[in-house]
Amino acid sequence: MVKKVDHIGVAVKDLEETLKFYRDVLGLELQGTEIVKDQRVKVAFLPVGDTEMELLESTDKEGPIYKYIEKKGEGIQHIAYRVDDIEKAIKEMKEKGIKMIDEKPRYGAGGAKIAFLHPKSTHGVLVELCERD
Ligand code: ZN
Repeated sequence: MVKKVDHIGVAVKDLEETLKFYRDVLGLELQGTEIVKDQRVKVAFLPVGDTEMELLESTDKEGPIYKYIEKKGEGIQHIAYRVDDIEKAIKEMKEKGIKMIDEKPRYGAGGAKIAFLHPKSTHGVLVELCERD
């Protein structure tokens, strides 16, 4: 069902500061940044092979990334898997007894259709399903 790791989401306090590591030290290329209002984040994309790093900085103190960092500090926040058909994937997850955070897909960065699985159903990892063209 899952095609590949679409991206790895990292919660960061300061995007510019973080780019000093990913771009300047690791040598990854910054493909672009985008504000996803729905999730109150500014996202930076840095492709690595056929996957990418997604750096997430909260745009305000109500955002999930702000709250995540307050609780756990900076770090890997979610793993996203690419699927062909997200509606079908969500249905299949539910049939398999997985608790979904998103029962319906919503739009994430880059116009992707995304849905999160509840970490209680995934051994502690926030898993995102991601469909994109
Ligand atoms: Zn993501």
